[in-house]
Amino acid sequence: MAAPISSRPEDRTGAVLTVDLAALAENWRLLKRRAGPTCDTGAVVKADAYGLGLEPVAKALKAAGCATFYVAHLDEGLALRTVLGAGGIGTPRIVVMHGPNPGTERDFAAHGLIPVLSTPGQIKSWRNFSQANDVLMESLIQVDTGMNRLGLTAAEFSSLMADPDGFVGLTPSALMSHLACADTPAHPLNGQQRERFASGLATFRLKFADAKGSLANSSGLFLGQSFLYDFARPGAALYGVNPVPANPNPMIPVVRLQAKVLQVRRVDAASPVGYGATFQAPDGAKLATVSMGYADGLLRSWSASGHAFVDDLRVAVAGRVSMDLTTFDVSHVPDSSLGPGAMVDIIGSRHTIDDLAKESGTIGYEILTALGRRYHRRYLPALK
Ligand SMILES: *Cc1c(COP(=O)(O)O)cnc(C)c1O
Repeated sequence: MAAPISSRPEDRTGAVLTVDLAALAENWRLLKRRAGPTCDTGAVVKADAYGLGLEPVAKALKAAGCATFYVAHLDEGLALRTVLGAGGIGTPRIVVMHGPNPGTERDFAAHGLIPVLSTPGQIKSWRNFSQANDVLMESLIQVDTGMNRLGLTAAEFSSLMADPDGFVGLTPSALMSHLACADTPAHPLNGQQRERFASGLATFRLKFADAKGSLANSSGLFLGQSFLYDFARPGAALYGVNPVPANPNPMIPVVRLQAKVLQVRRVDAASPVGYGATFQAPDGAKLATVSMGYADGLLRSWSASGHAFVDDLRVAVAGRVSMDLTTFDVSHVPDSSLGPGAMVDIIGSRHTIDDLAKESGTIGYEILTALGRRYHRRYLPALK
């Protein structure tokens, strides 16, 4: 028999990721209040709930009252179905935004997963499946209104609408589209997409009178009443990313990421730090190396302008981020803050996801979804 592991899990990793599920639930309620009573607020939990853990996140949101969840892939939908319990009345709806790949339709039906159909091919396959099995299953239709990424083109939508058999055998509950520039309220594409969507939805309702509409992601919820329609699909803002980058963040921080200090040293003559010797530590500088690197989701592009915090003190990255280690210049930090058990706040209340993203040359979404798998993960309140 293998020897038992006697150390505590939090002592066996290089960093600690704390996810505040109460703050997450509060963010969902905040977005729900913004959406108001006529716009249903769901939650996008694709990519392992933006890297924070599908199961704890989905359970916390379900407990807060969230009734519709959105994922990208069928596999994510199946995993979420296991977490949330069998489909049916009273259990949350799960929408799979990429829809069925050919041959997977049966799994959607069997596990109560609602597909978003975005191409004429998906629509045809779903119809064939529904007719062959004599089932009328809910689906959503996605139209592209100016992003040119995913969804029926204007021409495809028109020809399907003009064809009396275009949507035969389908019972779509809604038309949806996605905004390209929702985080930039002044961008003219927002208004154009809304106009195209409004006209598409009006046409769609000639065929499906009860069809709902959905346009808003997190940032879309902050563009005003006319972007709301019947349901919203927020993701990033739930997890604390600022949905209105030009303004103070209205969301509550959900994530704290702390890296452990492995070693503190003083250099007794000016000397280089890290791979490539790109940084010169001045004579007498104090350096702290933490056990976290790019294998844990820090970006190597963060090296040059990276900062973090030790207690209230801002510290700069010294040299290059390496795979498992990063060094900081902590010359101004008292030794009492760097003793055994000391941690550096990589993400926290003083240094947000958006700060880290900006310093890394990216966006909060990429920071979250790049979070590593080697952390000790703590969920607050503790998971039952
Ligand atoms: C990811 C995604 C969302 C969520 O967007 P956020 O900006 O994270 O709120 C909504 N709708 C679609 C189609 C998406 O792909």
